[in-house]
Amino acid sequence: MAIREIIEVPDPRLKQVSVPVETFDDELKTLVDDMFETMYDAPGIGLAAIQVGVPLRVLVIDLQPDDEDAEPVACDHDGHHHHHQPTKKEPRVFINPEILDPSEEHTLYQEGCLSVPEIYAEVERPSRIRARWQDLAGNTHEEDMDGLMATCLQHEMDHLEGVLFIDHLSRLKRNMALKKLEKLRKVA
Ligand SMILES: [Zn+2]
Repeated sequence: MAIREIIEVPDPRLKQVSVPVETFDDELKTLVDDMFETMYDAPGIGLAAIQVGVPLRVLVIDLQPDDEDAEPVACDHDGHHHHHQPTKKEPRVFINPEILDPSEEHTLYQEGCLSVPEIYAEVERPSRIRARWQDLAGNTHEEDMDGLMATCLQHEMDHLEGVLFIDHLSRLKRNMALKKLEKLRKVA
């Protein structure tokens, strides 16, 4: 496994439309392993392959914070030992994902993106979706999703079409966000 470089705006590759995966081989497994390692390292809860410069319809998502390295916390102030379980990772892979029936109801979520660092904005998306995708073995799955999972999958699927979350904002807000990012980069 290896941590790959995450590309950031205004890299033109982020506007590229990714192509379907047709070969479910070891190279694909390596890409997915690397994407997880890159995402956990960032840290982030979702990553599309194009964000590491690979224009394939592959996404990884894990809504759980990466607590694997956290020391189990022991409190003994009352004479007993309590061990807090670290949060379990829930890595999920979506290959060639599709959205089947987005709900008419929409929800606003504050979104951020590893390719648009330090910028957060509210984006409105369908609250519930039915998703279809393939796993690493090429098997097809379908599932109803809502809440953060539905939002995150839609955000990541946008990357496959070359769309960023800031593209959902008004031109004014998008320009303000990009100016803020430029400023932050100059300071850094
Ligand atoms: Zn993103």
